[in-house]
Amino acid sequence: MRLGLIGGTFDPIHYGHLVTAEVARYELRLAKVVFVPAGQPPHKPGRQVSPALHRVAMVRLALTSNPHFELSTMEVERPGPSYTVDTVKEFQRLYREAEIWFITGADAVAEVPTWNRAEELLQLCRLVAVARPGYTLRGCAGKQTELPDLWRKIHVMQVPGVAVSSTEIREWVRMGKPIKYLLPEPVEEYIAQHGLYCG
Ligand code: ATP
Ligand code: MG
Repeated sequence: MRLGLIGGTFDPIHYGHLVTAEVARYELRLAKVVFVPAGQPPHKPGRQVSPALHRVAMVRLALTSNPHFELSTMEVERPGPSYTVDTVKEFQRLYREAEIWFITGADAVAEVPTWNRAEELLQLCRLVAVARPGYTLRGCAGKQTELPDLWRKIHVMQVPGVAVSSTEIREWVRMGKPIKYLLPEPVEEYIAQHGLYCG
């Protein structure tokens, strides 16, 4: 069985994440896609990430309408920064027979060579790079020599583009602009109820 994993800060989760996961599930015949919200991400030390409690709650709300989507709190429950390689290892232990596919956007995949134990990660799973509006996969070209194995193992996938990012959504909330149709309605309501991203 094939298992999809998608990691991120999901601050907040939006349709870009959801459409990407759904297309990957269909195209790669994944039995399910597990969303793994990050704890305090090692790659975003400069920005204050919302408490895991809120990010997890929003992911949970966003996933209810898809029976093939699941939430894992593995990373938020682990103390200290989490590395993808450890997460994938843990999933491989939980699902011994599974072939794991790790789904990333074009921006995230360019960072893979800088990830902790990237070579080991690539032994453990397959990587899917999804073209993301506003980012080019060609941006990775310069790094090909750093980790040649990586580029051979990456599966590139085109997804109908949803040109939205969590950064933009946070900014729009702060400016009082509408975020309707960029993310599921229950998530939009949650943001309003808890006054997230206002300050
Ligand atoms: P931020 O702006 O805070 O970085 P984000 O929108 O990039 O948020 P993340 O939680 O950083 O969301 O992303 C999680 C994963 O989803 C990453 O692999 C990222 O590349 C991918 N992703 C995010 N938005 C999109 C999108 N619109 N289309 C395709 N992939 C996306
Ligand atoms: Mg991002």
